[in-house]
Amino acid sequence: MFTDTHCHLLSDDYNNINEIINNAQKNKVNRFINNGCDRKANEEILNLINKYKEMYGAIGIHPTEIDDINDDDFDFIEKNIDKEKVVAIGEIGLDYHYEGFNKEKQQEIFRKQLQIAQNHHIPVIVHSRDATKDTIDILKEYTVSGIIHSFSGSLETAKIYIKMGFLLGVNGVVTFKNCNLKDVLKNIDLKNIVLETDSPYLSPVPFRGTKNEPKNVYVIAKFLSDLYKIDINDLATITNDNIKRIFDI
Ligand SMILES: [Zn+2]
Repeated sequence: MFTDTHCHLLSDDYNNINEIINNAQKNKVNRFINNGCDRKANEEILNLINKYKEMYGAIGIHPTEIDDINDDDFDFIEKNIDKEKVVAIGEIGLDYHYEGFNKEKQQEIFRKQLQIAQNHHIPVIVHSRDATKDTIDILKEYTVSGIIHSFSGSLETAKIYIKMGFLLGVNGVVTFKNCNLKDVLKNIDLKNIVLETDSPYLSPVPFRGTKNEPKNVYVIAKFLSDLYKIDINDLATITNDNIKRIFDI
Protein backbone atom coordinates (compact mmCIF):
# COMPACT_ATOMS: atom_id res chain seq x y z
CA MET A 1 0.00 0.00 0.00
CA PHE A 2 1.06 3.58 -0.67
CA THR A 3 0.66 6.88 1.14
CA ASP A 4 -0.04 10.22 -0.51
CA THR A 5 1.89 12.50 1.85
CA HIS A 6 0.68 15.68 0.21
CA CYS A 7 -2.75 16.31 -1.27
CA HIS A 8 -5.46 18.93 -0.97
CA LEU A 9 -8.73 17.01 -0.82
CA LEU A 10 -11.25 19.76 -0.28
CA SER A 11 -14.86 20.27 -1.35
CA ASP A 12 -13.89 23.33 -3.42
CA ASP A 13 -12.02 21.03 -5.80
CA TYR A 14 -13.82 17.70 -5.45
CA ASN A 15 -17.59 17.13 -5.51
CA ASN A 16 -17.25 13.64 -4.13
CA ILE A 17 -14.32 12.95 -1.82
CA ASN A 18 -15.67 9.42 -1.11
CA GLU A 19 -15.20 8.57 -4.75
CA ILE A 20 -11.67 10.01 -4.82
CA ILE A 21 -10.75 7.84 -1.85
CA ASN A 22 -12.29 4.76 -3.45
CA ASN A 23 -10.37 5.42 -6.66
CA ALA A 24 -7.18 5.68 -4.64
CA GLN A 25 -7.81 2.45 -2.75
CA LYS A 26 -8.32 0.60 -6.03
CA ASN A 27 -4.78 1.74 -6.90
CA LYS A 28 -3.36 0.62 -3.53
CA VAL A 29 -3.13 4.19 -2.24
CA ASN A 30 -4.55 3.74 1.24
CA ARG A 31 -3.37 6.70 3.29
CA PHE A 32 -3.44 10.43 2.80
CA ILE A 33 -2.04 13.49 4.48
CA ASN A 34 -4.50 16.22 3.58
CA ASN A 35 -2.74 19.61 3.61
CA GLY A 36 -4.34 22.91 4.53
CA CYS A 37 -3.42 26.31 3.12
CA ASP A 38 -5.74 28.79 4.85
CA ARG A 39 -8.23 28.96 7.71
CA LYS A 40 -11.15 27.64 5.70
CA ALA A 41 -9.19 24.63 4.41
CA ASN A 42 -7.75 23.95 7.86
CA GLU A 43 -11.25 23.81 9.36
CA GLU A 44 -12.50 21.48 6.64
CA ILE A 45 -9.50 19.19 7.09
CA LEU A 46 -10.22 18.81 10.80
CA ASN A 47 -13.73 17.62 9.88
CA LEU A 48 -12.55 15.29 7.10
CA ILE A 49 -9.99 13.47 9.23
CA ASN A 50 -12.76 12.58 11.66
CA LYS A 51 -14.82 11.20 8.81
CA TYR A 52 -12.15 9.18 6.98
CA LYS A 53 -10.16 6.63 8.92
CA GLU A 54 -7.26 6.61 6.47
CA MET A 55 -6.90 10.38 6.27
CA TYR A 56 -4.49 12.47 8.35
CA GLY A 57 -4.26 16.23 8.44
CA ALA A 58 -1.68 18.99 8.20
CA ILE A 59 -2.88 22.47 9.06
CA GLY A 60 -1.09 25.68 8.20
CA ILE A 61 -1.01 28.93 6.26
CA HIS A 62 0.45 28.70 2.75
CA PRO A 63 2.84 31.53 1.74
CA THR A 64 0.49 32.73 -1.00
CA GLU A 65 -2.49 32.88 1.39
CA ILE A 66 -1.15 35.43 3.84
CA ASP A 67 -3.03 38.59 2.87
CA ASP A 68 -5.99 38.41 5.25
CA ILE A 69 -4.61 36.39 8.12
CA ASN A 70 -4.68 37.51 11.72
CA ASP A 71 -3.52 36.30 15.14
CA ASP A 72 -6.63 34.21 15.49
CA ASP A 73 -5.50 32.01 12.59
CA PHE A 74 -2.29 31.13 14.43
CA ASP A 75 -4.23 30.53 17.65
CA PHE A 76 -6.40 28.14 15.65
CA ILE A 77 -3.35 26.16 14.53
CA GLU A 78 -1.90 26.13 18.03
CA LYS A 79 -5.20 25.01 19.56
CA ASN A 80 -5.70 22.12 17.12
CA ILE A 81 -2.17 20.95 16.44
CA ASP A 82 -2.10 18.33 19.20
CA LYS A 83 -5.38 16.76 18.14
CA GLU A 84 -5.40 13.14 17.14
CA LYS A 85 -4.58 12.58 13.44
CA VAL A 86 -3.23 16.11 12.98
CA VAL A 87 0.30 15.07 12.08
CA ALA A 88 2.05 18.21 10.81
CA ILE A 89 1.99 21.93 10.24
CA GLY A 90 1.62 22.40 6.52
CA GLU A 91 1.67 23.53 3.96
CA ILE A 92 3.96 26.38 4.98
CA GLY A 93 7.00 28.05 3.49
CA LEU A 94 8.14 30.64 0.98
CA ASP A 95 7.04 31.34 -2.58
CA TYR A 96 8.96 34.00 -4.50
CA HIS A 97 7.77 32.82 -7.90
CA TYR A 98 5.15 35.47 -8.51
CA GLU A 99 5.64 39.20 -8.33
CA GLY A 100 3.73 41.11 -5.72
CA PHE A 101 4.09 38.89 -2.67
CA ASN A 102 5.65 40.40 0.41
CA LYS A 103 8.80 38.40 1.19
CA GLU A 104 9.21 39.82 4.68
CA LYS A 105 5.64 38.95 5.60
CA GLN A 106 6.04 35.45 4.18
CA GLN A 107 9.17 34.96 6.26
CA GLU A 108 7.48 36.22 9.42
CA ILE A 109 4.53 33.85 8.94
CA PHE A 110 6.82 30.95 8.11
CA ARG A 111 8.80 31.61 11.32
CA LYS A 112 5.67 31.86 13.47
CA GLN A 113 4.52 28.44 12.29
CA LEU A 114 7.97 26.88 12.67
CA GLN A 115 7.99 28.13 16.24
CA ILE A 116 4.66 26.40 16.90
CA ALA A 117 6.03 23.21 15.33
CA GLN A 118 9.14 23.34 17.48
CA ASN A 119 7.14 24.01 20.66
CA HIS A 120 4.78 21.11 19.98
CA HIS A 121 7.42 18.72 18.57
CA ILE A 122 5.44 18.27 15.39
CA PRO A 123 6.86 17.99 11.84
CA VAL A 124 6.36 20.54 9.07
CA ILE A 125 5.46 20.18 5.39
CA VAL A 126 7.39 22.83 3.50
CA HIS A 127 6.60 24.61 0.26
CA SER A 128 9.63 26.37 -1.24
CA ARG A 129 9.47 27.93 -4.68
CA ASP A 130 12.31 30.05 -6.04
CA ALA A 131 13.33 30.58 -2.41
CA THR A 132 15.83 27.82 -1.62
CA LYS A 133 18.41 29.88 0.25
CA ASP A 134 15.94 31.67 2.52
CA THR A 135 14.06 28.42 3.16
CA ILE A 136 17.23 26.66 4.29
CA ASP A 137 18.43 29.62 6.40
CA ILE A 138 15.09 29.99 8.19
CA LEU A 139 14.61 26.24 8.77
CA LYS A 140 18.07 26.18 10.37
CA GLU A 141 16.87 28.61 13.05
CA TYR A 142 14.55 25.92 14.44
CA THR A 143 14.70 22.34 15.65
CA VAL A 144 12.21 20.86 13.21
CA SER A 145 11.98 18.10 10.64
CA GLY A 146 9.44 17.05 8.06
CA ILE A 147 9.01 16.99 4.31
CA ILE A 148 10.28 19.33 1.60
CA HIS A 149 7.19 19.04 -0.54
CA SER A 150 7.48 18.87 -4.35
CA PHE A 151 11.25 18.76 -4.20
CA SER A 152 12.78 19.63 -7.57
CA GLY A 153 16.12 21.20 -6.65
CA SER A 154 19.74 20.28 -7.29
CA LEU A 155 21.64 17.35 -5.80
CA GLU A 156 23.52 19.80 -3.57
CA THR A 157 20.24 21.25 -2.23
CA ALA A 158 18.83 17.74 -1.71
CA LYS A 159 21.87 16.80 0.37
CA ILE A 160 21.49 19.90 2.55
CA TYR A 161 17.84 19.16 3.31
CA ILE A 162 18.58 15.50 4.02
CA LYS A 163 21.38 16.47 6.41
CA MET A 164 18.92 18.75 8.20
CA GLY A 165 16.62 15.75 8.76
CA PHE A 166 14.09 16.35 6.02
CA LEU A 167 12.49 13.91 3.62
CA LEU A 168 12.01 14.87 -0.03
CA GLY A 169 8.45 14.74 -1.35
CA VAL A 170 8.37 13.48 -4.95
CA ASN A 171 5.29 13.91 -7.15
CA GLY A 172 4.26 13.93 -10.81
CA VAL A 173 6.94 16.49 -11.68
CA VAL A 174 9.46 13.63 -11.82
CA THR A 175 7.58 12.16 -14.80
CA PHE A 176 7.67 15.38 -16.84
CA LYS A 177 9.81 15.41 -19.94
CA ASN A 178 12.70 17.90 -19.80
CA CYS A 179 12.82 17.55 -16.02
CA ASN A 180 16.22 16.60 -14.61
CA LEU A 181 14.82 15.62 -11.21
CA LYS A 182 15.17 11.94 -12.06
CA ASP A 183 18.92 12.40 -12.57
CA VAL A 184 19.18 14.06 -9.16
CA LEU A 185 17.09 11.35 -7.49
CA LYS A 186 19.28 8.58 -8.88
CA ASN A 187 21.99 9.89 -6.56
CA ILE A 188 19.71 10.03 -3.52
CA ASP A 189 19.02 7.00 -1.36
CA LEU A 190 15.34 5.97 -1.36
CA LYS A 191 15.31 6.18 2.42
CA ASN A 192 15.06 9.97 2.00
CA ILE A 193 12.05 9.99 -0.31
CA VAL A 194 8.29 9.99 0.21
CA LEU A 195 5.52 9.91 -2.38
CA GLU A 196 2.92 12.62 -2.93
CA THR A 197 0.59 13.97 -5.62
CA ASP A 198 -0.18 17.59 -4.62
CA SER A 199 -3.70 16.85 -5.90
CA PRO A 200 -5.54 18.59 -7.50
CA TYR A 201 -2.34 19.96 -9.06
CA LEU A 202 0.66 18.45 -10.91
CA SER A 203 -0.86 15.40 -12.56
CA PRO A 204 1.84 12.99 -13.72
CA VAL A 205 2.42 11.88 -17.32
CA PRO A 206 0.20 10.61 -19.01
CA PHE A 207 -2.53 12.51 -17.15
CA ARG A 208 -1.14 16.04 -17.46
CA GLY A 209 -3.85 18.65 -17.89
CA THR A 210 -6.42 16.67 -15.91
CA LYS A 211 -7.33 17.14 -12.25
CA ASN A 212 -4.91 15.13 -10.18
CA GLU A 213 -6.03 12.54 -7.62
CA PRO A 214 -4.21 10.57 -4.90
CA LYS A 215 -4.68 7.38 -6.96
CA ASN A 216 -1.85 8.71 -9.16
CA VAL A 217 0.66 8.03 -6.39
CA TYR A 218 0.73 4.62 -8.02
CA VAL A 219 1.95 6.17 -11.30
CA ILE A 220 4.75 7.97 -9.47
CA ALA A 221 5.65 4.81 -7.54
CA LYS A 222 5.85 2.86 -10.79
CA PHE A 223 8.08 5.53 -12.33
CA LEU A 224 10.42 5.45 -9.33
CA SER A 225 10.48 1.66 -9.16
CA ASP A 226 11.75 1.69 -12.77
CA LEU A 227 14.21 4.48 -12.02
CA TYR A 228 15.68 2.75 -8.95
CA LYS A 229 15.24 -0.73 -10.43
CA ILE A 230 13.45 -1.90 -7.32
CA ASP A 231 10.28 -3.94 -6.85
CA ILE A 232 7.28 -1.63 -6.43
CA ASN A 233 6.22 -3.39 -3.20
CA ASP A 234 9.67 -2.84 -1.71
CA LEU A 235 9.40 0.82 -2.71
CA ALA A 236 6.07 1.02 -0.86
CA THR A 237 7.64 -0.49 2.26
CA ILE A 238 10.67 1.81 2.21
CA THR A 239 8.69 5.01 1.63
CA ASN A 240 6.17 4.08 4.35
CA ASP A 241 9.03 3.35 6.77
CA ASN A 242 10.46 6.78 5.94
CA ILE A 243 7.17 8.41 6.94
CA LYS A 244 7.15 6.49 10.22
CA ARG A 245 10.57 7.85 11.19
CA ILE A 246 9.20 11.40 11.35
CA PHE A 247 5.41 11.29 11.51
CA ASP A 248 3.11 9.90 14.16
CA ILE A 249 1.13 7.78 11.70
ZN1 LIG B 1 0.34 21.60 -1.95
